[in-house]
Amino acid sequence: MMPAPARAPSPSLRAPSFRGARLVSRRASVVVSPPRRRASSRAAASDGDAPAAGAPLRVAVSGAGGRTGSLVMKLLASDPASFAPPRGLVRSPKSADKLRGTLRDAVPDFSDARVEIVEGDVGSDSDLDRLCADRDALVVLTSAVPKPKIPSLLVALVSKIVPWMEARRPEFYFPEDGSPERVDWLGQKAQVDAAARSGSVRRVVVVSSMGGTQVDNFLNTMGGGGDVGSANILLWKRKAEMYLVARSPELEHVVVHPGGLLDKPGGERELLVGVDDRLLDGDRRSVPRADVARVVCGALLDPSAVAVSFDLASREPGEGDRGPTRTNEDVAELIASLRGETADYSKPGKKSPVPLP
Ligand code: NAP
Repeated sequence: MMPAPARAPSPSLRAPSFRGARLVSRRASVVVSPPRRRASSRAAASDGDAPAAGAPLRVAVSGAGGRTGSLVMKLLASDPASFAPPRGLVRSPKSADKLRGTLRDAVPDFSDARVEIVEGDVGSDSDLDRLCADRDALVVLTSAVPKPKIPSLLVALVSKIVPWMEARRPEFYFPEDGSPERVDWLGQKAQVDAAARSGSVRRVVVVSSMGGTQVDNFLNTMGGGGDVGSANILLWKRKAEMYLVARSPELEHVVVHPGGLLDKPGGERELLVGVDDRLLDGDRRSVPRADVARVVCGALLDPSAVAVSFDLASREPGEGDRGPTRTNEDVAELIASLRGETADYSKPGKKSPVPLP
């Protein structure tokens, strides 16, 4: 556990207003702290907390013990020339031990000094302040995690085997303290606020999900039957993205909407990018977690990626002409291939049961 640093919020930041149909971001009229460095360019910084020009980027990762989160931590810890020892948020000592074990196995010459681990919850501002203190960038990899209802799994299985039975899908629920509203909206909003409060975080990279324009996407039905907050995971994620986007340009944002996540090796597939769920119309709608992690690390370093939200999928290994995305430079090229396109956050609009701005 790292000690809680004492750091005053930067007076240069002021929370944006987030009301009605407009998202408005403002800078305070009197700026008393010197300008913060750009996380992406790692340019020279003049305040005492920031490292010198060209210094490795200091990254905080929430959901660091998760399946994609631990892959991001691995890539960050494996590249000390580009990244300072990453700081990850996990929820328990058990997750912390598991993450350290994963890194020990995966990172050459790993020692515990190559990583900082904060135990905490997205419901706690002080935990999030410890995560973000003196960091240049924040990667958001927290998510409400649906759990299957066991009887429904059995029914779904039987419906597959019995020819005269109508096919049934398994049903899911979210634990009471882990609803999409709590984790994906309020928890993510709190992370954005903590990033802004830190006075040092300049860039926020969020791993969200494809399907955010679709009110009737299957994923929004998970946990249904209760109130709006216990389902609609894609829409709560969307709301949190909009909250972040509204803080531009004070916080730079890169929002990645992956399709179905695969536990397959990274660096073997050509990656596909798009916006507004158009990739869902095609037949390539999934992507390995390891490739998502590579895209996150490349996006952290890409000086051009300051305000972009895009969808991500992959071809099968060996398909395509451009080849796999293996390096941070490949990621910058991939993002550049969007030619300035970014998500249209007026979708899905007022038909969403989750109130969107
Ligand atoms: P994951 O393994 O489910 O990890 C989610 C992480 O969030 C876990 O580390 C969990 O901590 C953490 N978390 C949950 N509630 C928290 C809280 N209250 N405070 C702090 N941490 C909390 O993630 P993944 O499957 O790699 O997915 C990464 C992202 O991609 C997610 O946003 C997911 O929704 C999205 N996505 C997934 C799919 C898919 O096919 N599964 C498709 C598209 C997008 P613990 O480890 O302690 O539980």
